[in-house]
Amino acid sequence: MADRTPRLYNTLTRTTEAVEPREEGHLRFYSCGPTVYNYAHIGNFRSFLTADLILRTARAIGWETTYVSNITDVGHLTQDDLVDPSGEDRMAQALEREGERFANIYDLARYYSDALLRDWHALNLRDPDVRPRATEHVTDQLEAVIKLVDSGHAYVTDKGVYFSVETAPDYGKLSGNREAEQLQATERDIVEDEGKRDPRDFALWKLDENHLMKWHSPWGWGYPGWHIECSVMGMRYLGDQFDLHAGGEDLIFPHHECEVAQNEALAGHEVIPYWVHTRFLQVEGEKMSKSKGNFYTVRDLIAPDPDDEHVPDAIRQQGGVDPLALRYALLSGQYRKPFNFTLKTLRDSARAVKRYRDVQARLDEALQSTSETAAATGLAESLRESYEEALDAMCDDLNTPGSLAAALKGVKAIEQADSLSAADARTATEWLHDINNLLGIVEPQHAATERTGGSDGDDDFAEQVESLIRERADARSAGDYDRADAIRDELDEMGVEVKDNPDGTTWERKGL
Ligand code: AMP
Ligand code: ZN
Repeated sequence: MADRTPRLYNTLTRTTEAVEPREEGHLRFYSCGPTVYNYAHIGNFRSFLTADLILRTARAIGWETTYVSNITDVGHLTQDDLVDPSGEDRMAQALEREGERFANIYDLARYYSDALLRDWHALNLRDPDVRPRATEHVTDQLEAVIKLVDSGHAYVTDKGVYFSVETAPDYGKLSGNREAEQLQATERDIVEDEGKRDPRDFALWKLDENHLMKWHSPWGWGYPGWHIECSVMGMRYLGDQFDLHAGGEDLIFPHHECEVAQNEALAGHEVIPYWVHTRFLQVEGEKMSKSKGNFYTVRDLIAPDPDDEHVPDAIRQQGGVDPLALRYALLSGQYRKPFNFTLKTLRDSARAVKRYRDVQARLDEALQSTSETAAATGLAESLRESYEEALDAMCDDLNTPGSLAAALKGVKAIEQADSLSAADARTATEWLHDINNLLGIVEPQHAATERTGGSDGDDDFAEQVESLIRERADARSAGDYDRADAIRDELDEMGVEVKDNPDGTTWERKGL
């Protein structure tokens, strides 16, 4: 394999650069995960997918990787676009919205993080090496805040602890928002804290003894600011000098700008040299929004509620699309270009994924062939070229459309071969395996596909239902009836009817 170095657009330097890990051949990176207050939508997954592709590309060129992607379960506020995020905690707001469905806020967090993992696996995203939760790292966060106060980078008011932006001369280097006037509080942002010394200062710790998730601190009861969570979890698992940080474009400011300031104040030097941001996904040419009816969660598309009219009929009628078709559709736009998700893209993607499946079936058959000599002239060479081109495209700032097109050349070469010997089939199967490792579009890697319709996913579906039923039985024996009910609701949403009989629990699909 030719020597390759992936190139990525670095928001920090505003150029496309060769990525050179600090330790040769070992990429350490962090990607901002979701706030678990709802089901993740396809836009969230476009961002998570970028991290997955960085991982797959690094592995394909033979690097080792350490990949951390967090779960935010406290402190992410509704007005997170403001210099100093304010508003209501998204988690608390969700608990209000969901009413009786959850026993408490931790239960809600667990429910939506379980749902996230199922979607994550259905879309063939590789698991990170560590998936830290903010609530499990509050002690680390408090230590960091204390250190920032002690070193003069932060100060305490009666509303919380603030990072003093004045002490970070490079503040603004990531987003370009350098001028104090630019950062002046907008009308909404006149944060009701007279004690704040500079409108640019942002909260590291918010004092609030009534907050649903609260911890005791040297300054009183409260909870951590959203930005410090990611700084601390990143450095906890990757050290104070790691390689790369990824997230959606909305996070450049203030979230990542504030992370840079905190990291550098804590470490005393630059912590992360490469910053990668995914452009927002739009649906049918418009920003996704519930009011426009073009807001899709992953489950809306792969396991829709049959009665949910906001999901297009065509998708509901087939019980949801193949999750790999959805992944393919998300890959069809490069992460840094505006991406317009349409039903047409989804249809085309489903056809492409089917071509892979058909080719795979043909190869499985040909593997049984008695002819050992290569029958398809030039096939091995075409496949080698296809893979090299697909990998080159990924190294070129994750050019996924280019990579998919190169991979399809390999599919076409197999389709066009008149006959395949066992040797051809072995070569082509290996090629398919490599393409799948690179792009994740051929074979589901986890059993947890959530498709309710069709027959392909039936075994996986049954396995998943049974596991939920076991979990529900455990919850009931532990007296956790709220959890048991939440699981029943989840099964209900999956179109499963559960019957509790004296000699055990049985289930069936509704309406079948
Ligand atoms: P959140 O759960 O709001 O913290 O978002 C999780 C991730 O999804 C972040 O990296 C966001 O930047 C990203 N994100 C949110 N909406 C979109 C979108 N429409 N397109 C791409 N990424 C998004
Ligand atoms: Zn983050």
